[in-house]
Amino acid sequence: AKDGGRNGYRFYQQEMQTKVAERAMLEKALHSAVLNDEFYLVYQPQVNEKGELIGFEVLLRWFNEVLGLVPPCRFIPIAEETGIIDEVGYWVLENACHQLKAWEEAGLPSSFKGIAINISPYQFAKDSFVDTVKEVIENTQVNPSLLDLEITEGMLVENISSVAEKMWLLKECQLRFSIDDFGTGYSSLRYLQHFPINQLKIDQSFVRDLSRAPNSHVIINTIVSMADHMGLLVLAEGVENPIEKDILNKIGCTRYQGYYFSKPVESDIATRYLTADTVF
Ligand code: C2E
Ligand code: CA
Ligand code: CA
Ligand code: CA
Repeated sequence: AKDGGRNGYRFYQQEMQTKVAERAMLEKALHSAVLNDEFYLVYQPQVNEKGELIGFEVLLRWFNEVLGLVPPCRFIPIAEETGIIDEVGYWVLENACHQLKAWEEAGLPSSFKGIAINISPYQFAKDSFVDTVKEVIENTQVNPSLLDLEITEGMLVENISSVAEKMWLLKECQLRFSIDDFGTGYSSLRYLQHFPINQLKIDQSFVRDLSRAPNSHVIINTIVSMADHMGLLVLAEGVENPIEKDILNKIGCTRYQGYYFSKPVESDIATRYLTADTVF
């Protein structure tokens, strides 16, 4: 070992202990978060090339008195490992649909295609998933064609036939599917043909590279042209400035989401975006 290896090890041990303790604390708090009403939803606009609102991605937020605002990247994995994701996922679905129903009743702008909800692989893998979604649609009376479920590439690789069956059943109910973080997983475009997919969401990492690495431009170009041939829509995530938007537009990607247009906002502001016919 190097000089100070002992101290380094001790430090590492302490750090591990802190991490384990922190995780235990998060897990404990997460168990009562739904009951204590600690979750809320925010909505990030998705826009077309004219800057019109075409949808909202629904994003979960957790505020705990002691822990403060905990980012989803810290609590979603714990919720998945512990199974709490079932309850949390249901909460998201139900509350997002309640909100959507209120928006429907107020009247939607013609450009608006609906809301996108993130579905965890654990949630989707449940035998009851299709019935759960149907139940929420029934209870909230939303128009199911306004629902876009975001799933990840990784989910398409395992249990292909059961995944495909669930997707087809939901498609029969008019729901749509988007592939989230597209390009970061394993699936090839050809492979996607087995599933009823409506849209690919190009991962932010490709958009981030656009103004730096010339190759990222080529990657997005390939995704867009192949998606075109397959009749799939393409939406770019993480668009942060007009340069990125213009490059994407030239490549033929005409749907965007990102801080350049709007950060995720709470429901009152989302409602204002909808009713004021905001152009982004
Ligand atoms: P995601 O599905 O890829 O969501 C997009 C994330 O990128 C969001 O972070 C969003 O706030 C952020 N983002 C949007 N535009 C920009 C931009 O221009 N620049 C940058 N740097 N970031 C941008 P958030 O809300 O922290 O969510 C992180 C992840 O947590 C999501 O990634 C999703 O995988 C997961 N997540 C969030 N809500 C839910 C949920 O309700 N259910 C499940 N299963 N997962 C969720
Ligand atoms: Ca997403
Ligand atoms: Ca994403
Ligand atoms: Ca992501």
